[in-house]
Amino acid sequence: MNKCADAFTRDFVRSTGKNEVLAIQHETITSGDAVYDIINVETFLLAHVSLPVIDSNTLYRREGFILDRVLNADIYRLRLEGFELVCKFECTQQGQFHPDKHIMRFCERCDNWFHTTCMDTSHDEAPTLRRGSTSSQASIVNIPRDIQRMWDNLLLTPLQRGSPSYNWLLSFELLVLAIRSQELSSGCPPDIRSFIIDHLSLASHLNHSLDMFVQIFLNLRRPDTTYYHCPDCHSVL
Ligand SMILES: [Zn+2]
Ligand SMILES: [Zn+2]
Repeated sequence: MNKCADAFTRDFVRSTGKNEVLAIQHETITSGDAVYDIINVETFLLAHVSLPVIDSNTLYRREGFILDRVLNADIYRLRLEGFELVCKFECTQQGQFHPDKHIMRFCERCDNWFHTTCMDTSHDEAPTLRRGSTSSQASIVNIPRDIQRMWDNLLLTPLQRGSPSYNWLLSFELLVLAIRSQELSSGCPPDIRSFIIDHLSLASHLNHSLDMFVQIFLNLRRPDTTYYHCPDCHSVL
């Protein structure tokens, strides 16, 4: 923390997760022999639906957040360009996102993530979904009723980043967005499990655990979900 050049950089570093990697930009030459190992680091865009499914050991970094070394000393300053905030509406966290502490919900209409603690809870039992041409595939392809019921259940999944049940930055945000887009374009797919596998967006180094993450997603307790009102447009999130 005493290596931060200013309060702005210090506030950001304080809000980073324990598995978060900070990108530092400065010129140096390192001998190839000194490279000990190559590790996998997943990237995501703070303000957009973009985070792959990761496990408790995966390292990650926010795209665009770069620390510059000041005057070649061991002091760093967060670059202003690329810096982003979330929850841009009366946020109690000053728009910061702490991956180990905060649970966020995404509003598709406002294109913004909000802290669950910055929203009022809703009595609704389903999130607001985008409307488009009605999904008609069910009537054309004749989806069995139990498959359709399972799909309708998946549509209750909120677009969430972080989970109170897991102590790491677990999010199925890309899959949930894909499910909603599928619903909008053609409705329930004939094979839901294949659809989930195709759209899970699992970090590539975790492919051996694919079945486990599919099961975690299917086991999310959807009927117990607490929904919130978007503080800006009042959609149910
Ligand atoms: Zn907030
Ligand atoms: Zn909204």
